[in-house]
Amino acid sequence: MSEPVTPRPALSCADDYDPDSMPVEKAREVIARYLSPVTTMERVNVRAALGRVLARDVISPLDVPAHDNSAMDGYAVRHADLVTDGEVTLNIAGSSFAGAPFPGVVGAGEAIRIMTGGVVPAGADTIVMQEHATASGDRVVIGKGHRRGQNLRKAGEDLAAGQVALARGRALRPADIGLVSSLGIGEVPVYRRLRVAFFSTGDELVSIGSRPGPGQLFDSNRYTIYGMLKRLDCELIDMGVVRDDPAALERAFREAAAAADVVVTSGGVSVGEADFVRDLLRRMGEVVFWKIAMKPGRPLAYGRIGGAHFFGLPGNPVSVMVTFYQFVREALLRLAGREPVSPVPTFRVPCVSNLTKVPGRTEFQRGILERHADGAWRVRVTGEQGSGILRSMSEANCFIVLPADQGDVAPGALVEVQLLEGIV
Ligand code: AMP
Ligand code: MG
Repeated sequence: MSEPVTPRPALSCADDYDPDSMPVEKAREVIARYLSPVTTMERVNVRAALGRVLARDVISPLDVPAHDNSAMDGYAVRHADLVTDGEVTLNIAGSSFAGAPFPGVVGAGEAIRIMTGGVVPAGADTIVMQEHATASGDRVVIGKGHRRGQNLRKAGEDLAAGQVALARGRALRPADIGLVSSLGIGEVPVYRRLRVAFFSTGDELVSIGSRPGPGQLFDSNRYTIYGMLKRLDCELIDMGVVRDDPAALERAFREAAAAADVVVTSGGVSVGEADFVRDLLRRMGEVVFWKIAMKPGRPLAYGRIGGAHFFGLPGNPVSVMVTFYQFVREALLRLAGREPVSPVPTFRVPCVSNLTKVPGRTEFQRGILERHADGAWRVRVTGEQGSGILRSMSEANCFIVLPADQGDVAPGALVEVQLLEGIV
């Protein structure tokens, strides 16, 4: 769209891969080479910045905390007044409460009543917590064993003025907008949102409100795609269902590419349909059709149409979601200016189900990770794993990631899981 497109090597020359059995990792790598993040920024109010990507470092304009302050309720004292044996009695000369500091200087033999967060008054260097002091009237008795500087938070110890408080590329979370506010900053620079156009392809699809005829079904992919994009904070352009008709498809691709940074479609990339879409896209941009060595989600098209990135996802409802989470999500994060983009974490847990798996492809089975009575977490498979069974995605709270070289999994064996919570 508005931003310059960095020239990249032609996709067709993306050398060392076999488009008929592209490993998952390799496909991710190749895609990453073609992505140039948005550069346009806008300033938004700190609340509106939640979930947005920071376009510049936020530099702290002040020390946090701004003053030396007390970490405890107690007494601010001069360490030199304390004794190494027995007890000492000090005069309580005033108080320092949050928002109401002691204006004077603590003199010899004096203590100041101080509450947590209260500014440590001049002259004092140590806080004695109230549990270690006995006050009566305007006097306080303090025993031995106190360390100079104890229970005291130094000015600037969290963050010094001039330090980077939050780095560019970060998607702002609740703690971050709190941190920004703690610096007195009311507006932050963020990248503009990505514009993503999407549509479903297929003559068999009908929309909600129509009656499916023989062999027809409701379009669900456009709703799952909507949901997944929405969660990534994209600006959405829903282009509906497009028929398997060259003229209609060409029109849709042109319109989508002109309006959006990214075009996402479902269907039309499987054997039998791909040739037709391939010919069309060959004229409009640079698109490769891969058979990814994965299950579900074998066919995937990726490339550019005009200035837009294009992801042609398979038609099967589970394949759409798996390919989105394994490829599109990460690409969108990169394009949106997120930095760094780390892979979705995986961890190993015992699997209670018997898993059938043919070596040669990475499988993303849908799993339910749950805590058992003995306190340990174990995963089970959701049931039938057909790529048309959308309910398996609905029930799952994780993917069970079985590497390409893996065969069947016996109950009790450790498997890699990738939590959906956090990415869905
Ligand atoms: P395709 O990749 O276009 O051959 O689609 C594969 C299968 O996925 C089709 O036979 C449909 O059953 C299903 N399918 C395709 N598009 C959708 C959609 N938008 N919503 C639900 N199911 C779909
Ligand atoms: Mg189709």
